[in-house]
Amino acid sequence: MNAIPAPLACRPSCGACCTAPSITSPIPGMPNGKPAGVRCIQLADDNRCLIFGRPERPAFCGGLQPSAEMCGTSRGDAIRWLSDLERATCPKSLINTAEFARAGDELL
Ligand code: SF4
Ligand code: SF4
Repeated sequence: MNAIPAPLACRPSCGACCTAPSITSPIPGMPNGKPAGVRCIQLADDNRCLIFGRPERPAFCGGLQPSAEMCGTSRGDAIRWLSDLERATCPKSLINTAEFARAGDELL
């Protein structure tokens, strides 16, 4: 019988998935959600979520689980993967590709 693999732990002080993707639902302090490449206002200086476990935390955040594919081995890996996904899934009208690419580079 195969053992079930342990879930991947979130890397401390990463915060890539609180910065690179867009979030369309309201966040306390960001009532319209946040654009891609913008740091969430609820992300503390040490990259911990200030509203973790609270009902006002967007469902998007609770649904995004760490994975080897997304998180990679560094914050830079995760920023690149999530930025590529954002570019691949966002309507072109909502994203200025050149500016977004620059923003992604600055986040690394
Ligand atoms: S990208 Fe992965 S490791 Fe980084 S904060 Fe998100 S879940 Fe954690
Ligand atoms: S609400 Fe918390 S988990 Fe969600 S993006 Fe902001 S800091 Fe990250």
